[in-house]
Amino acid sequence: MSRRTKIIATIGPASDSVPVLRKMMESGMDVARLGLAHGTIDDALERYHRIRSIAAEAGRAVGIMIDLPGPKVRLASFGTTPVSLDSGAQIVIEPGRNTSDAKTLGVDYLDFLTDVHAGDILSIGDGSVDIQIESVGTTSAGARVIHGGSIQGSPGLHIPSDRLNMASPTPEDLVKLDAFVEAGVDMVAVSFVRSAHDIRRVGTEPYPRGPLIVAKIETRAAVDNLNGIIEASGAVMVARGDLGAELGIEELPHIQKQIIRDCIASGKPVITATQMLESMITSPAPTRAEVSDVANAVFDGSSAVMLSGESAIGNDPVNTVATMARIVERADQDFDFGAWARRIRLMGKMASIAGDARITDAMSGATWRAASDMNVDAIICISESGFTVRAIARFRPQMPIIAFSPVERTVRQLTLSWGATPILAPHRVDSLSMMDDLVCIARDSGLVRSGDTVAVLAGAGGGTEVQATDVLRIMRVK
Ligand code: PEP
Repeated sequence: MSRRTKIIATIGPASDSVPVLRKMMESGMDVARLGLAHGTIDDALERYHRIRSIAAEAGRAVGIMIDLPGPKVRLASFGTTPVSLDSGAQIVIEPGRNTSDAKTLGVDYLDFLTDVHAGDILSIGDGSVDIQIESVGTTSAGARVIHGGSIQGSPGLHIPSDRLNMASPTPEDLVKLDAFVEAGVDMVAVSFVRSAHDIRRVGTEPYPRGPLIVAKIETRAAVDNLNGIIEASGAVMVARGDLGAELGIEELPHIQKQIIRDCIASGKPVITATQMLESMITSPAPTRAEVSDVANAVFDGSSAVMLSGESAIGNDPVNTVATMARIVERADQDFDFGAWARRIRLMGKMASIAGDARITDAMSGATWRAASDMNVDAIICISESGFTVRAIARFRPQMPIIAFSPVERTVRQLTLSWGATPILAPHRVDSLSMMDDLVCIARDSGLVRSGDTVAVLAGAGGGTEVQATDVLRIMRVK
């Protein structure tokens, strides 16, 4: 069985050259993530077009996700050599200062002194260092390092989100978003979302005419408003870096499971992110604990797992992607398919949605049952928007899901969907004979064989407005 859980790799200075990107695709990168916190829009667009042309040359569907930084506060650069902040040390934080050292930290958030209060605990670099604010003055704040550590570059500074007086997406996010929507980006991750309203403010067209909007769950408010956010988004990311700082790290494994379950039950892909193979930034092999974390994220039901610094600034991004692919492929083999599908069925989340989605819910459930009862060799989904594919993927069927769409962007958006092999259909499917043609394409591509039994699920009407899936056929491949 080939790998079912998808891999997202963040692209940065260590991974943006043509040969490295090509090898990352060959090693298993399904989606490339471009963080927009650093650098210019033009540089990011150049990376974007480079990824597109390498994928086209390789004939591979690779999704591209931009990540809007939102109201992310960052420290000014410490430079490229690690700087040690020792436990107990007294430090000063100065908004607007453009360098940081072991004694004085610059911060890019000008309202910092208004928003933080004495007693607040702030976390630097996804928990590498914790500091406590002791005094707030008119030009700087005094703090003590409570858990020391080593930092470099421009790390994020986590300020509890209920203190931050900034909304997401920010006006700067929306400018960046426009440039990438124009370029045809597939997915847009939105940081520091607090409610479904933040997702609606993104304002792009619904997918696949617009990008799939990925809500990053990293604030306490987002956890409280999870159901509304899932409904308003195309996919969700468990952004464990900031979420761990916000809720306390001991909450992470539990909230990760809950977010994953709720998303998949609603037919929305979900990404588990941050520090998955962190030690591979400098080391050629991950820690045993990291290997278990990735495998457990697969067992939890993640649609995709994500590499961050490991692939963006690490020593060997290609080895990191290959290592992730090996761990995931092995974990996929031991996934408890039967128990998962029964639980999703019982949750019945999609059934509570009104309109056409109810038909897709019923038809994808019927397909999963028929496919399992008959132990078919593959499920073939034909979908304009990808909605049907996501609906069938939520059951985690044991057999391959071959996902045809006549819409190129849908094909690339399905690179995020668990278990789906996305393929561009040469035409819309408006008749049974056209369905037969696609089954022959799957056979000619080596995805199914002559004599195999397949379940074919499609919307008969076609058209991007039609969300309902209304034809199921069990067929023998010619
Ligand atoms: C996170 O906080 O876990 C995350 C994915 O966001 P970022 O990488 O933007 O900090």
